Amino acid sequence: MSIPMENTGKLGFGLMRLPKKGLVIDVKQTSRMVDAFLEAGFTYFDTAYVYTGSEAATKKALVDRYPRESYTLATKLYGPATKSRKDGEEQFFTSLKRLGTEYVDYYLLHTLMEGNYRTYENNDLWDFALRQKELGRIRHVGFSFHDGPELLDKLLTDHPETEFVQLQINYADWENPEVTSRKNYEVARKHGKYITVMEPVKGGRLANPPREIKKIFDQVAPGRSPAAWAIGFVASLEGILSVLSGMSNMEQMEDNLSYMKGFVPFDEKEQAAIRQAQEILGKANTIPCTACSYCTKGCPMSIPIPDIFAAMNLRLGNGQLEAAGKAYEELNQKGNVADACIACGQCETVCPQHIEIIRRLQECREALEK
Ligand code: SF4
Ligand code: SF4
Repeated sequence: MSIPMENTGKLGFGLMRLPKKGLVIDVKQTSRMVDAFLEAGFTYFDTAYVYTGSEAATKKALVDRYPRESYTLATKLYGPATKSRKDGEEQFFTSLKRLGTEYVDYYLLHTLMEGNYRTYENNDLWDFALRQKELGRIRHVGFSFHDGPELLDKLLTDHPETEFVQLQINYADWENPEVTSRKNYEVARKHGKYITVMEPVKGGRLANPPREIKKIFDQVAPGRSPAAWAIGFVASLEGILSVLSGMSNMEQMEDNLSYMKGFVPFDEKEQAAIRQAQEILGKANTIPCTACSYCTKGCPMSIPIPDIFAAMNLRLGNGQLEAAGKAYEELNQKGNVADACIACGQCETVCPQHIEIIRRLQECREALEK
């Protein structure tokens, strides 16, 4: 018997930022995190074909160690890397092999947006996923999405067979005109879809919000971590199948578990605190980078784009001028920084947050170079 779709326990273990020992995923530590997660009654694990090393580590830390029916597994098919249905098939069967499983519970067409959704149509990948569902190798078909409400509406209208959709939702991006969390959420619900949530803590940024926000949160719930606030906001929405937290160490796991075990949706006082935080963030012109690193893989100059943006956000979000300059200088000592950008534009074509990376790097250079 597999776990019913609506019964995943809300918290999902995002396997994109697993702990590492040097450059390799630390399977021992990951296994301990898996143990704690399952022990607390949660079941949803989320990986992807393109998360380097993640599927293989998931096999060792989870699949080889627990009965298959005691957890649910999600992985994804990355259309832009395919030229045909056959390439899609190869990706899928590679994922099954790496994971050491005969089926996945959730299979997502990965990171659909204006620039790539036609690839999924042209290469017949929707049909392929549905066929695998018929054959029992996939339990539920969905897609992850990084664009606006109009395209989401079109995709859900064209593909009513979609059972769930994965959206970027967090309190900071709720009204963000580039991310449109609220509008996308409303479209998905209008179509009656379940939602899995990615980036509830905005790539870790909401774990360390401006001091003013921490103060507001502490007044309402002393001791609750800012990350727990961010996850709690999303988990309080209706129709949420799972909130994915990309946990990288045991401390983050324990923090999430302490809060999400026996989770109760936010009351009016907590919602008011979130609204205050949204107002404060609305005034800050930080760079909405989630540190997904999709941009760095193809950068011909090996520029550490997300690290540069993280340094800049220390300045923009928290006014930490000195710390921002120091972080940038450290990056400079290790290799190329913003001044090495040749404006080839590769990074901007893959950024799911639609950041004008070339322009923003130029800003970083002007603000942070000594
Ligand atoms: S535009 Fe600049 S940062 Fe982006 S990929 Fe090209 S060189 Fe790298
Ligand atoms: S700039 Fe965009 S693609 Fe690069 S890490 Fe940030 S969010 Fe991801």
